[in-house]
Amino acid sequence: MFLALCAVLLNLSLSYAQYPADWRPADVHGALSVKGRFLCNEQGDTITLRGVSFGWHNLWPRFYNQAALKWLKNDWKASVFRAAMGVYKGVEDGYLENPDFALNCIEPVIRAAIAEGAYVIIDWHAHDFHPEEAKAFFRKMAREYGAYPNVLYEIFNEPTHKHFWPEIKAYAEDVIAAIREFDPDNIVIVGTPSWDQHVDIAAADPIRKFDNIMYACHFYAASHKDGNRARVQKALDMGLPIFFTECAGMEHTGNGFLDIPEWTRWVEFMEKNHLSWVNWSISNKNETCSMILPRGSYEGGWADDVIKPAGIQCRKFLRQYNGNDPLYQKSGE
Ligand code: MG
Repeated sequence: MFLALCAVLLNLSLSYAQYPADWRPADVHGALSVKGRFLCNEQGDTITLRGVSFGWHNLWPRFYNQAALKWLKNDWKASVFRAAMGVYKGVEDGYLENPDFALNCIEPVIRAAIAEGAYVIIDWHAHDFHPEEAKAFFRKMAREYGAYPNVLYEIFNEPTHKHFWPEIKAYAEDVIAAIREFDPDNIVIVGTPSWDQHVDIAAADPIRKFDNIMYACHFYAASHKDGNRARVQKALDMGLPIFFTECAGMEHTGNGFLDIPEWTRWVEFMEKNHLSWVNWSISNKNETCSMILPRGSYEGGWADDVIKPAGIQCRKFLRQYNGNDPLYQKSGE
C-alpha cells in the first residue's frame, strides 16, 4: 500500500508542475477607478492589470473552476480573469438558451477570483443587442458582487460592423444605469464598433453620464498591426480610457500563424501606455489561440508540455510584466 502510494505521488510529481506560492494582487490594489484615461488602484496609483480570458463558457465549461484560476494566478501571474459568458445564439447552449448552466459556470469563477485575491471581468460575450436580458443579468451581478472590489463588468463583448456607435452608446448607457442601481462604482467596460477596433469613434463621443467607464479594444496580432495601433493612439490622445479585454498573437480567426514579433510590439505599446490586457484564451480546441492541449488537466498544474505555443508566450509576458511590476511587489511571492 505504501509503495503504491509512493508510486502515485511520484507519478503526480512527474505529471504536474510544482505548485507555486500564493500571490494576491487584488488585495493590494483594492477598489479600482478611472482617473483621466488611466486605471487606478485604491491608493490612486496608475496600474496595469494583465491576465487571461477563459474561453466561451458553453464551449469550454470545464475550465471554469477555482483550481484553474488559482493556478493561472500563482503560476502564470495573471492578476485579472475574464469569464466569457456566451450569450450569442449562434453557439449552442449559451446564456439566452440555458441561463442556469451559464451562471453555474461563471459564478464559481467570480467567487474564486474574490477568494483568491484577483480581479475578474464578467463578460457578456455577445455579438448582438439583447438589452432587456443584459440589464436583468447585470442587475443580478451588481446586486450580488458589486460590493467586491474584484469585479469589473464588460457589457457587450464585440459589436460588429453592423453596429454603429450611437446605438452602442445608447445600449451602454441603458445597461450601465441598471448596474448603477446596485453598484455605484465598479468599472464598466463598453464595446466599440467593428469588433472593438474603432476606439477612436468612441473617443469622439464618449459616455459622460457615468464615472468609472472604460472602452474595450481587441487585437489579433497577425492581422491587426500599425493601422490599429494608430487608431488606439488617436483615442488615447483624445483621453479615452481603454482596456484590452481580449488580445492574442495569431490571426483574427484565432487560428493560423502565431506572430510573436508583432504580438511583442503590441505588448510593448500597451505597457508604454499603461493599458491593461487580457489574453484569449484558456481552452483546448485544435486552434492556435487555445492555450492548453486536450491532454492537459482542467484544473491547472500544467507543465510546459501541455501548454501550446501561444500559452507559453502568454505566460512569459505575464510573468515578465506582472512579475517585475513594482506596484505588485507588496502582494507577496
Ligand atoms: Mg461597488
